[in-house]
Amino acid sequence: MSTQSLGNSGRLMAVQQVGNRTPRQFRDKKPGRISDYFGMNTFGHNQMKDRLPENVYEKLRNTISRGERIDTSIAKEVAQAVKEWAVENGATHFCHWFQPQTGLTAEKHDAFLTFDSNGQPVEKLSASQLIQGEPDASSFPSGGMRSTFEARGYTAWDPSSPMFLMEGPNGSTLCIPSVFISYTGHALDQKTPLLRSMEVLNQKALAVLRLFGNNSAHRVVPTVGVEQEYFLIDKAYYLLRPDLQFAGRTLVGSRPPKGQELEDHYFGSIDARVLAFMQECEFELFKLGVPVKTRHNEVAPGQFECAPIFEEANIAADHNQMMMEIFKRVAGLHNFTVLLHEKPFAGINGSGKHNNWSLQDSDGNNLLDPGHTPQQNLQFLVILSAVLKAVNKRAGLLRAAIASSGNDHRLGANEAPPAIISVFLGKQLSDILDSIESGETKGETTEQKIINLGIAKLPEIAQDYTDRNRTSPFAFTGNKFEFRAVGSSSSISWPMSILNGAVAEALDDLQQSISTRIKDGADLQKASMDTIRETITETKAIRFEGNNYGDEWRFEAEQRKLPNLRKSPESLDWLVRPESNEFFKKLGILEPEENEARYHVRLERYLKDIEIEVEVLKDLAYTSVLPAAYKQQLMLAESLKNYLEAAHSTGLPTHSVSLQSRMLEQVTALIGSLLERLGVMDKYMSEATHLDSLHEKSHFYAYQVMTSCDAVREACDKIEEIVDDQLWPLPKYHEMLF
Ligand code: ADP
Ligand code: MG
Repeated sequence: MSTQSLGNSGRLMAVQQVGNRTPRQFRDKKPGRISDYFGMNTFGHNQMKDRLPENVYEKLRNTISRGERIDTSIAKEVAQAVKEWAVENGATHFCHWFQPQTGLTAEKHDAFLTFDSNGQPVEKLSASQLIQGEPDASSFPSGGMRSTFEARGYTAWDPSSPMFLMEGPNGSTLCIPSVFISYTGHALDQKTPLLRSMEVLNQKALAVLRLFGNNSAHRVVPTVGVEQEYFLIDKAYYLLRPDLQFAGRTLVGSRPPKGQELEDHYFGSIDARVLAFMQECEFELFKLGVPVKTRHNEVAPGQFECAPIFEEANIAADHNQMMMEIFKRVAGLHNFTVLLHEKPFAGINGSGKHNNWSLQDSDGNNLLDPGHTPQQNLQFLVILSAVLKAVNKRAGLLRAAIASSGNDHRLGANEAPPAIISVFLGKQLSDILDSIESGETKGETTEQKIINLGIAKLPEIAQDYTDRNRTSPFAFTGNKFEFRAVGSSSSISWPMSILNGAVAEALDDLQQSISTRIKDGADLQKASMDTIRETITETKAIRFEGNNYGDEWRFEAEQRKLPNLRKSPESLDWLVRPESNEFFKKLGILEPEENEARYHVRLERYLKDIEIEVEVLKDLAYTSVLPAAYKQQLMLAESLKNYLEAAHSTGLPTHSVSLQSRMLEQVTALIGSLLERLGVMDKYMSEATHLDSLHEKSHFYAYQVMTSCDAVREACDKIEEIVDDQLWPLPKYHEMLF
């Protein structure tokens, strides 16, 4: 924390520097129209087609579009072709690019260089190097699943996500998207469970399509479009804030006089320096084939959003990771730092990552798009019911999927969805479901019923989602669902794995229920309607159209017996309930030991986050806040003393001195209270060392320790409000945000 030595002069210098900055231009790097350079750094279909023999290309294309296993006989030719392409485009190295459970990406680079039989240097990428890599992975979190003697995991190429070139300042690296598995075959990463969940979802969704007579689609994939929120602050300020550097969020800091009450930032015009940053990020992302589409200011000052066009979940997950990487890298070039934390500033809107999710078949149909015929609409209602059933049954798991210490600060704040998972459908769709539920009118054919219920004209109804409820954690938005409770810094893979799995399970249930009814003599329409009606009744508790931010909802949710897992440790406990283990196993997403390992990784991460925060907070309190307070105290005491001395010798009146001395007393009291609160925090931390189970410790951290941190912060913030601005060493909220 050497930056601290800059002290308050550092803060003033930073303020000056920031005031003088002009937007960074990078136009010279830019080769013309987006469509000319989009995907130029990916080994996409065009490159494959140009460079691979036709039969090899066909096999690879089938592998990708059908989600099949790679035929190893083609690996040699693919390796050769991609190596040629990479080297021609300036690559010297390759790496298996994977996503360990840190939430970040990992890579270990190898040069293409080898020597041929004549001892001449040549570039080479062998089939086995393409397919399988062996990183020294012993220090990635594994949740204790690998003992040290078999600590190494290996990475394996995932052909469904395109290989790409990561440009560095002095050359490029070929990145091979990969899964990361232990030698015993256990998933150690985020991608493996996602791919497995996509596979089971594909099977279960296809079975439903077949029921409805669709025999042409050969695959169903979840599609995901991720709206990424983030903060940008000036790097000069970041460097003076050890809390941002080490914990990703401010641990002290008094709210600015002008908060976001006016919400004048939302969709406002974008500041030129910020725009320059966004444009350069987009340029880099376009080259990587990431279809970033929208950019705008968000609600909070200094907060922004970027959203790509939706893609198949696995690719969307990779692209979101790439987006976060590029943001971090490009921000530095613009003298910014990007904050991906869920709640970098107390009292100001946090950041989320809205996961827009739907299902698409290989003929391009969106399965959550209401159709044009009664039959299509029935199918739509079956899929919709499956999502309701999935969220209703697996609400606790979906909450666990988004658990992190950062997201705990955001969920349930007055601008973010609560920790209670519920589904918003919109008035018209809700009305339809309600009338289906109560619509068992005698004597009508199912066909008539469908017409009478208005299901025959669903398309027009579902188009109208302009007036949507933005407080819901899981909202239907016309032709997709939006899972809004996902944290801004996390990988989407885990929450999407759980959602995919939950929907796969529900689709399977519904498909079986419809099939059974058909076997018992009902026609498809009646069997579907009855199953839909049953599901609507069963899932009523999960539907909520009202204000999710209100206290009344918490109350009502309790009546409805919905889980309210307020903090991460409670929700992570849910992950390892026996029925959760069964769920993951049944669907082939995770074996119980893989799931237990994930629980450990997440809890350990949670504890570590809080331990870091406690350390940094202590450091800030002792080395920044208290010294400033002592100086303020000294200044007040000295001026008081000097005045009293002067009054004594000159006979000046002393009756107004009492107010000033009260200030001195107030500073002293705040110092005392901060010291006392630091003592409490310390006491809790040492008590925590006696708790051996991760479970107990995490709960203790979530409540006792976090409460003591809040108390320390409160004292620090009060001190900030009365200390001479010149004496304050840390950039203030209003400086960082406006
Ligand atoms: P909003 O009003 O919430 O910004 P948009 O229509 O702009 O809604 O979409 C937000 C995100 O949803 C985008 O990333 C978009 O690509 C994505 N999206 C749209 N359709 C789908 C779909 N069928 N499946 C998944 N994501 C989708
Ligand atoms: Mg949205």
